[in-house]
Amino acid sequence: MNAPVEQPLTFHPPSDDGGLAKRLRAAVRGDVLFDRASRGRYATDASIYQVMPVGVLVPASDDDVRAAFEICGELGVPMLARGAGSSQCGQTVGACLVVDHTKHLNRVLDYDAHAQTVVVEPGVVLDALNTWLRPHGVWFPVDVSTSAQATLGGMAGNNSCGSRSIAYGNMVHNVEAIDAMLADGTDARFGPEPAMEASAPRVRELVAGLRAIGERERDEIAEKVPRVLRRVGGYNIDVFNPQSERPYTRDGSVNYAHLLVGSEGTLGVITEVTLRLHPQPEAVSAAICMLCAAIRLVKTLSRTIAVYSSGPVTPSRCQTPCRSWWPNDSHSRAVSTSTERPHSSSSESSPVTTR
Ligand SMILES: Cc1cc2nc3c(=O)[nH]c(=O)nc-3n(C[C@H](O)[C@H](O)[C@H](O)COP(=O)(O)OP(=O)(O)OC[C@H]3O[C@@H](n4cnc5c(N)ncnc54)[C@H](O)[C@@H]3O)c2cc1C
Repeated sequence: MNAPVEQPLTFHPPSDDGGLAKRLRAAVRGDVLFDRASRGRYATDASIYQVMPVGVLVPASDDDVRAAFEICGELGVPMLARGAGSSQCGQTVGACLVVDHTKHLNRVLDYDAHAQTVVVEPGVVLDALNTWLRPHGVWFPVDVSTSAQATLGGMAGNNSCGSRSIAYGNMVHNVEAIDAMLADGTDARFGPEPAMEASAPRVRELVAGLRAIGERERDEIAEKVPRVLRRVGGYNIDVFNPQSERPYTRDGSVNYAHLLVGSEGTLGVITEVTLRLHPQPEAVSAAICMLCAAIRLVKTLSRTIAVYSSGPVTPSRCQTPCRSWWPNDSHSRAVSTSTERPHSSSSESSPVTTR
């Protein structure tokens, strides 16, 4: 293995904040936290990285974010949007002004029972949203393990996937529109292509530019973007010619919100997300299978999915169990439970949990 190369890291800006805290306090209603203890708290997230931010803004409204954009733009201070900070690759730490959406920007703004959509602010936590939706008989099924902390803004930011993504897809498959504030302070709504025609000239210009790049690079994108269901690394540059096994939209049309999904806050700060909802499952069944050999697990999984796919119940969740759960003996063991809907089973029990 090669020895690590020493690379000097230059963080921007230098220790003096250039009057940022003072100007922010004069301009916003939310909390402006520049003390060492607060900065220390926001220097970490769920990753292994630790970077002290210049300061923290906890905005009380979108106007606060807009004011921060203006001031940071003038002073040359980068801004970083943050939800629960449960990303694991250091996305929410940096030498910048961290903007925490969780405290105040956490309202459900609109629910459309007919269209089965809901509009939320970025700081709404997934579990809170699903609790809110429960009486309506619908849910948002991108069920990340950190559902008690993860925010919809952060989930859109990193194109989160839940354990049920084989049935429901990831965020990119379930976001209908995104309202965002761009670096120059422009407010824009990104959604289905036809709706973009009503946008402001600046946004139409951006969209036309994106379309042109998509068409120019069409072949390259088709060749290089992996054709996998759960692709969450980087921008969805294949939005004009999707390479995902699951189309991003039901009819294969282009939705510009999908370019912001997975962009990790680099294209704009999300102020509202419109999500597609799904009916709550009528029944829940679970099957747990303990196998000693990985190859048997793979074979059983593929057979089970085939069984389910041909019947009325389809699997929505597949998870490989923790190794420490595996039995010590050389025989495979299986447990299967179900409620309401009976289903067929192969000779080896199913390792699939279905909701
Ligand atoms: C134990 C553990 C289990 C996990 N399990 C899963 C899992 O099952 N599936 C999965 O997909 N992930 C999983 N994760 C990763 C992470 O928890 C999820 O992706 C989660 O949904 C991220 O939400 P968050 O609110 O913490 O986002 P954050 O980490 O705060 O932010 C995510 C990204 O979005 C950006 N962002 C945040 N808010 C905005 C905004 N308003 N506008 C623009 N950009 C914004 C941030 O800058 C960042 O780039 C797991 C993490 C841990 C630690």
